[in-house]
Amino acid sequence: MTKHKGRYLSKKEIEVPKTIKVGGHTIRIEIVDSIDKGDLAGHYIYNADKIILARRVKVEKVLIEASAQSMIAVLYHEVLHAIDFIYNSGILAEDVIDRLSEGWYQVIRDNPLIFKKGGDD
Ligand SMILES: [Zn+2]
Repeated sequence: MTKHKGRYLSKKEIEVPKTIKVGGHTIRIEIVDSIDKGDLAGHYIYNADKIILARRVKVEKVLIEASAQSMIAVLYHEVLHAIDFIYNSGILAEDVIDRLSEGWYQVIRDNPLIFKKGGDD
């Protein structure tokens, strides 16, 4: 196993970077046990340049371990909030962010080569 700069979300070995860049901001990604007692799966905080992801979320009043896939989908959701806030004055509604981030997640996941040669020629 190679040494990675990112961290693993779970035993399923899905890795996320410690930081991402959006506009002029370097945004730190933190993974915590839960947010708001499990009510939130993730949160983007502009003023702190931070995205927080929760390992556990509340489902029908019970805290459960989030799947690695759902945590990645939440990360995409929060990154889209950051893009919207930094480049778009934060005008997208929550349901629009939800739909676009799920679409983005699917396209990237099903097309792994999409960013391999992203305009670097
Ligand atoms: Zn949201």
